Amino acid sequence: MRFETLCLHADGNKKDEWGTLTQAVCQTSTFVHKGVGDPSEYSYSRLSNPTRAHLENTVAALEGGVAAYAFTSGMAAVTTVMKLFGAGAHIIASEDLYGGSLRLFRNVNSREGMTFDFIDTGDLKRVESLIKPQTKALYIETPGNPLMSVSDIAALSAVAKRNNLLLIVDNTFLTPYFQRPISLGADIVIHSGTKYLGGHNDALAGFAVVNSKELAERLGYYYKTVGACLAPWECFLIERGIKTLPLRMDRINYNAKEIAAWLRGKKQVKKVYYVGFEDHAGYSVSKKQSTGFGGMISFEVESKQLAEHILKNVKVFQYAESLGGVESLITYPMLQTHADVPKEERERRGINDGFLRISVGIENVKDLIEDLERVFEE
Ligand SMILES: *Cc1c(COP(=O)(O)O)cnc(C)c1O
Repeated sequence: MRFETLCLHADGNKKDEWGTLTQAVCQTSTFVHKGVGDPSEYSYSRLSNPTRAHLENTVAALEGGVAAYAFTSGMAAVTTVMKLFGAGAHIIASEDLYGGSLRLFRNVNSREGMTFDFIDTGDLKRVESLIKPQTKALYIETPGNPLMSVSDIAALSAVAKRNNLLLIVDNTFLTPYFQRPISLGADIVIHSGTKYLGGHNDALAGFAVVNSKELAERLGYYYKTVGACLAPWECFLIERGIKTLPLRMDRINYNAKEIAAWLRGKKQVKKVYYVGFEDHAGYSVSKKQSTGFGGMISFEVESKQLAEHILKNVKVFQYAESLGGVESLITYPMLQTHADVPKEERERRGINDGFLRISVGIENVKDLIEDLERVFEE
């Protein structure tokens, strides 16, 4: 089956005894044994649950993985994946990373004895130069958050394989509709399912997808032990979202292209960060490894006053954290997603008080551009 069809029929249309078309929400914590020493297929919902298993099967199919685990949030997925590594492990990670992941690595995992190097993982030589005997994994986001830096997944996978490292890719921004890291050599794919997979700004979820049985077993052990398992109702909501993923992503991709081009033409905008620009440093890698550019755009306006004016006065765009939903959102990374990144580092990388990030939704793009046009001209 092709991707759009898999979003709806990854289960091969196996039916339960009622013949329900949509997967039933199996709202139970436990399952009754058939007899002594004769358990049911499911035993306890922390370990597994039919609604969750159905969703996990769909996500594994979309990413081309061997197995997927559904978590209560993206951060629960990242946290549990980090349990694969113990004290002493060294990880090389993208510096252009979701703020919560940076906080976890720097302030929690580091305290537990892991060490990290945060670098531009688009620079392969730099990555190779930092590998040491304790290095266990490369952890990347591409495009990165919020500077839209691009890393070459296949090239990093070759480096990882040569050095016996795991390649972990947070694929939240592009989704498997536009980019399938496992097919490019990644070992683990992470998602904040809260974003495009769920897609409706109404539920939190996270995923880890693995490329081998061995990793599925290792991660499965931590999954059932840590216990951050997605509840049945949330599984239902995320699965419902996935059914329209391709339609939403096509519209979002189209809208974002228009908005990025429009922003670039405004004199009050100093810089636009968008991977779909032909002069973006990662454009050729993007063209090679993904089939769309997604809906994330960052831009820097000429002053803090203008940034605040935009945030206060947009009417269609909503000033809110998060991304990937049907409604367009605008955020101020300095005060929100990246508030915990030290100021000097943030400013060095260009995340200053004129820096804004938008997540383009599925509205009519003319309304989105008119909304921005009005606040720019006021
Ligand atoms: C939001 C996000 C996360 C964290 O996911 P939550 O569901 O908010 O816990 C991780 N990575 C990326 C790229 C994100 O955008």
